[in-house]
Amino acid sequence: MNAARHIDVAPLPRMDNRNGWLEILPPLPPANVATGSHAFDYVVIGGGFTGLAAARRLAELNPDSSVCLIDAGRIGNNAAGRCSGFAIDQAHNIRATDFAVEIESEKNQITLNRAGQDYLRDVVQTHDIDCDWREQGKVHGAATPRGQELLKAYSGNLDLLGAEYEHLDATRMKQITGTNFYTAGLFTPGTILIQPAALVRGLAETMPANVTVFEDSPVTAIDYDQVQRLRTASAVITAPTVILANNGFASRFGFYDDHIIPISTFGSLTRQMTDEEIAILGGEISWGIIPADPFGTSVRRTADNRILIRNIYSYSPDLNSGEDTRLWARGKHERSFRNRFPMLPKLELEYTWGGPLALSRNGAPVFGKLADRVFASACHNGVGIARGTICGKLIAEDVSGQDSGLLQIMRNAARPSKLLPAFMMHIGIRANFAVRRMRAGREL
Ligand SMILES: Cc1cc2nc3c(=O)[nH]c(=O)nc-3n(C[C@H](O)[C@H](O)[C@H](O)COP(=O)(O)OP(=O)(O)OC[C@H]3O[C@@H](n4cnc5c(N)ncnc54)[C@H](O)[C@@H]3O)c2cc1C
Repeated sequence: MNAARHIDVAPLPRMDNRNGWLEILPPLPPANVATGSHAFDYVVIGGGFTGLAAARRLAELNPDSSVCLIDAGRIGNNAAGRCSGFAIDQAHNIRATDFAVEIESEKNQITLNRAGQDYLRDVVQTHDIDCDWREQGKVHGAATPRGQELLKAYSGNLDLLGAEYEHLDATRMKQITGTNFYTAGLFTPGTILIQPAALVRGLAETMPANVTVFEDSPVTAIDYDQVQRLRTASAVITAPTVILANNGFASRFGFYDDHIIPISTFGSLTRQMTDEEIAILGGEISWGIIPADPFGTSVRRTADNRILIRNIYSYSPDLNSGEDTRLWARGKHERSFRNRFPMLPKLELEYTWGGPLALSRNGAPVFGKLADRVFASACHNGVGIARGTICGKLIAEDVSGQDSGLLQIMRNAARPSKLLPAFMMHIGIRANFAVRRMRAGREL
């Protein structure tokens, strides 16, 4: 049984209206803001990939129960809707010396990610969600000898995993992207490219009938007891069982404080290219580049003829990033864009936005039961489309008393290790990021 506990929640998410992915969609219908008193069987806090999957799965498994999905803002304007839209199956470089253990763990991660992709695909197909879903893989791009070395190391890791890939030379990279910026590339087939805001809006709008979705309704306080009581500015919501699916913000709900590293990263989207610019650029109509250097730049060409740029990590102890950091990131995006596309001097960045990520020191997620009838799934370390989705689905299955091989993987996974004291984190992370940005050089 829970010892009764009251938590005032702060900070709350603060999202501007600069998210290009959302801004280019038709205007949203008015939000269903929570008002008055409500009682549900389950409440899921957070409408990103994790919470959307958790609410859907709870509703599927418990059709006679009521499920509430509550979000602080508009679904689509959150990190989920601000991301770069790479639903990745195989993400990591293997760095440990104990390859056998590391390979086993990496294979588990890939299995989880693919299960997340499968769940998303199923919902997208069933409800015909228009989100520019493209199963076309990703290309890791290098622009320097160091980048090429990183690609070589990555292909070695893929060999160890028995994974499929293809090396691409500079000519092929130009055929794909239209620019001769890249000197080499490595293609892996498992990634799905999507319009993220369109996908999460579609997921929210096609929830089963027993799910109530509240938006623009930040949870400002929670009382943990035999029944969990949530407060917003204009509502009180009770439910016996609550799932925290609000990523880094979960750490402000009384659990895992001092375990989650709050980071922001930034995206920019150009205006649509003119027919003339499309002809000058050449290349394929849709592609996605992941940087060979993790501190490099992700780039996409979207099907509606825009270019996406994503780079810069900044430490955000307040969990939100400010306007000055956004403007600084925009300057970096300008440079990254001009370096890659000098043939498009008049193509401007139309939107630049930031979004929160939650990392842990040891790369481990928050998953499972935190207290009696209080569960969480968070901290998916920057690959949240596939991983957040599968972990949201699995936490709902856990809550519903199910068991499976995938659930066992998540139950047995490590948990985030405790952070160093705040002043050390501030200095250490900022210095680390500055060095890695510098080392990325032209890859940025
Ligand atoms: C610019 C950028 C690019 C990225 N690119 C990729 C990519 O290409 N591929 C990929 O896999 N990942 C990418 N990511 C990471 C990805 O966005 C996250 O991993 C993913 O969104 C995590 O999903 P989530 O549901 O766990 O959390 P979130 O998407 O952060 O959702 C959490 C939700 O909780 C809500 N919330 C928080 N506090 C409260 C409260 N008090 N009350 C109510 N609601 C609350 C928030 O409003 C939010 O909607 C990127 C992230 C950014 C910022």
